[in-house]
Amino acid sequence: MQVQSYAAQSAKASLRPYKFDLPPLGPDEVDVNVTHCGICHTDVACVDNEWGMSVYPVVPGHEIVGTVSAVGSNVKRLAVGTRVGVGALCGSCMECEWCEGGKQQVCAQVVGTVMGEHKGGFATAVRVNNWRFAYPLPDGIASEHAGPLMCAGTTVFTPLLRYGVKPTDRVAVVGVGGLGHLAIQFLAKWGCEVTAISSSHSKDEQARGFGASHVIASSNPEELAAAARSFDFILSTVSADLPWDAYMAALRPGGKLCICGIPDKAIAVSPWSVIAGEKSIVGGQPGSIDETTAMLNFAALHGVKPLIETFPMSEANAALDHTRQGKARFRAVLVA
Ligand SMILES: [Zn+2]
Ligand SMILES: [Zn+2]
Repeated sequence: MQVQSYAAQSAKASLRPYKFDLPPLGPDEVDVNVTHCGICHTDVACVDNEWGMSVYPVVPGHEIVGTVSAVGSNVKRLAVGTRVGVGALCGSCMECEWCEGGKQQVCAQVVGTVMGEHKGGFATAVRVNNWRFAYPLPDGIASEHAGPLMCAGTTVFTPLLRYGVKPTDRVAVVGVGGLGHLAIQFLAKWGCEVTAISSSHSKDEQARGFGASHVIASSNPEELAAAARSFDFILSTVSADLPWDAYMAALRPGGKLCICGIPDKAIAVSPWSVIAGEKSIVGGQPGSIDETTAMLNFAALHGVKPLIETFPMSEANAALDHTRQGKARFRAVLVA
């Protein structure tokens, strides 16, 4: 099958129309005709080779929504026409101890949708290496909203499961952007008392609309200092290098700082920040198959959805630039 896509041929190049042929469908594979694709900062990072791992041509897009157009002979539960979402991961070995234990995201052979030679969703179609990574979408989630849930949503929801966040916990979300505005919604619906921490007070009203009970502007260091020993869990969604010891001080004893955004520099903290209050620093990344399914069901049940700006697929460059410049309020979504 021939796919028409938008691809970058080198680092930081503009996206150009690019046609390629998919090989014959393997037994565990499915093809998905793309109807919508959200844009994540990782797409910008892959196009721009920020992490030195890009293999060109890069076809970005890993917040994919579409309908199944072909299924391999081993495929279960999916049929031609099923509406599905596909996120940052689209395959794993399914036989190592991690895959068998339900942690496919840490499999050594995990396939990233926009990593290596795999081509993403800025395209007419995408190949999913293992059908289990194409998730049937609950009826309650609109197609234009489902894409951002597939990467941003699972990235911020999975830590609630993995690190045992409880409804009685007091939590903070750092950054009110693509990830943060979903994190505030998930945590508020989870039952937590949520504080949004943003660089200024300019997004206070929106943060409260997403479910935050309190807001802190990090540009006023005294506001963060006043929150010392306040939070059981802090989920950071920003790529800025923050004064990490000040955030560790805002944790209650036993609290966790969860890093979901990717700062440029090493995260340096004083040893006392982890020793004195028995605190820890943990990471958040898109979840397993079970965790992602749970996220979709939770989002449908509680009406968690991204605030989006839509662009036609033909304006993929403008939409990617919009995200590159941090202008998306709060997620850009391409519509085929
Ligand atoms: Zn992503
Ligand atoms: Zn595996």
